Amino acid sequence: MARAFIGFGGNIGDTRQLITDAIVCLALRSELQILAKSCFYQSAPIDATGGDYINAVIEIETELTPYSLLHVCQAIEQEFGRERPYSNAPRTLDLDILSFEGVIQNETELILPHPRIIERSFVLLPLLEIAPNFFLPDLGELKTYLPKVADQRIEKLPCRNCNCWEKAVYSQSAH
Ligand code: AMP
Repeated sequence: MARAFIGFGGNIGDTRQLITDAIVCLALRSELQILAKSCFYQSAPIDATGGDYINAVIEIETELTPYSLLHVCQAIEQEFGRERPYSNAPRTLDLDILSFEGVIQNETELILPHPRIIERSFVLLPLLEIAPNFFLPDLGELKTYLPKVADQRIEKLPCRNCNCWEKAVYSQSAH
């Protein structure tokens, strides 16, 4: 079984609901188990158009290969109406494989770990919330990259059904 992290983002429609529904879709598949889910975060668009994004990260365990997992993620994006009219267009739902076990590869179709894993607060904060000591062989401890993204506007949203946001380890308020 491989351990992997998937990042979600979108800025069209009720993104919290879309991400929740997409996670349910993933949970229904027998080839993977969801181990953890971060809270939702609201972040400013970076190199993209439209309004603020909603983001979250999950940790999974899976029997799938990296490419099979990518195809599952792409099928869910399609199911939720993702269109790609132009590069970095506003999007209903984007799924990225952030890391897949210790796999390091640089194929156009699938780059692992995700090339922007250490460059975006909307990836680092939710990822570190569920895996505070996450470490990648070539990159080291991901929490050491937090200062580099401190100027990227992001806010952790209160959970609707629980108070886990009060226990934030890496909370950052909007600025
Ligand atoms: P985006 O528009 O950001 O969703 O990028 C989608 C494209 O990135 C697809 O063609 C994927 O094959 C490719 N891609 C490369 N690496 C990854 C990754 N780690 N996770 C998801 N998509 C990836």
